[in-house]
Amino acid sequence: MNYNKKSVRDIDVAGKRVLCRCDFNVPLKDGKITSDKRIVAALPTIKYLIDNGAKVILCSHMGKPKGEWKPELSLKVVAERLSELLGQEVKMSKDVAGEDSRALAASLRDGEVMLLENTRYIKGETKNDQQLSADLASLADIFVNDAFGTAHRAHSSTAGVAEYLPAVCGFLIEKEIGIMGKALADPARPFVAILGGAKVSDKLNVINNLLEKVDTLIIGGGMAYTFLAAQGNSIGTSLFDAEKVDYCRDMMAKAAEKGVKLLLPVDTVIAKEFPDPIDGPIDVKTVPSNEIPDDMMGLDIGEKTRELFAEAAKSAKTVVWNGPMGVFENPTLAKGTIAVAEALAASEAVTIVGGGDSAAACEQLGFADRITHISTGGGASLEFLEGLELPGIACLEDK
Ligand code: AMP
Repeated sequence: MNYNKKSVRDIDVAGKRVLCRCDFNVPLKDGKITSDKRIVAALPTIKYLIDNGAKVILCSHMGKPKGEWKPELSLKVVAERLSELLGQEVKMSKDVAGEDSRALAASLRDGEVMLLENTRYIKGETKNDQQLSADLASLADIFVNDAFGTAHRAHSSTAGVAEYLPAVCGFLIEKEIGIMGKALADPARPFVAILGGAKVSDKLNVINNLLEKVDTLIIGGGMAYTFLAAQGNSIGTSLFDAEKVDYCRDMMAKAAEKGVKLLLPVDTVIAKEFPDPIDGPIDVKTVPSNEIPDDMMGLDIGEKTRELFAEAAKSAKTVVWNGPMGVFENPTLAKGTIAVAEALAASEAVTIVGGGDSAAACEQLGFADRITHISTGGGASLEFLEGLELPGIACLEDK
């Protein structure tokens, strides 16, 4: 896939109607926005369009209304917050690409901003319906995609609309594809990838693709135990995916063949049971990874492993991290995930964090500033690492 895409800087937006797909899918509680991070993240592109005299028509989805007009998922709250942040009115449309949107769009003056209603109020959105794509396109002269979080979806407002309009990216997508694209296409070496999380099956293609590119692949989290089992270790009652044992063996053979160092936990924090509640008190001890008793389960990486993984991250020039090293929701079992976040923060390398849990860990620990790039898209960043073509990016014009 070509990551060298035109951005808003490469076209003339003055006096043009610009339809800009943002990710305004913000968390809500009792009808109020609990974090406006995504709105703030969208500001640079929106301000650029305003400052350069575009007529700005914003759109986004929120939640999963599945084609139903659910008032609690209206983007009105976003329009209000955005108005405050921009210091100018954001006109809220009563529909997605209907009569009200058309009238509002037609009345916009240069530098004015409007927001369409939740694109997923229309059933066709997630089906990449041609009529909806054409209706959205009819509002504007140019399409700008700045929603990386939905770039792996071929929906009307993320990809379909680009069939009818010149399409470029905004600054958020430009940054995502600039940093992640380079890391994958031409990484500074050593290139280390750290994968964690619960399931091997979620990361099959990522592991396979990364083995083509990295110098070291580190596997922690619940998925490590199937690898340990595939090496012949007994893993007690740890997470185990019997169907993926052969796959793990194949990946270990592939790593050996390619000369990629594959690091697995050398020691493991174990307990009798999974914590319940998840953040409740728990009795743990640490054992070598090949000495997990039959009635115990591994729930985090041990101290020696933390040092091993941290050392690999620190001596790297590029590090990609996706997925927690243990049941990080529990303070006793969060040490492995914290150690990796710390190592990335301390590393001089280009550090890229994708996936909601690892990104949240870096932010909660206050390390976000010291990470080169925290991806705004969990699913999208995984698909990126898998080497898949992302429809919301593939549809944009090449430079
Ligand atoms: P994922 O959604 O695949 O990124 O996985 C994230 C989840 O994996 C988190 O909720 C963790 O609690 C869980 N997890 C990580 N390590 C383990 C482990 N050793 N055993 C069970 N669950 C784990």
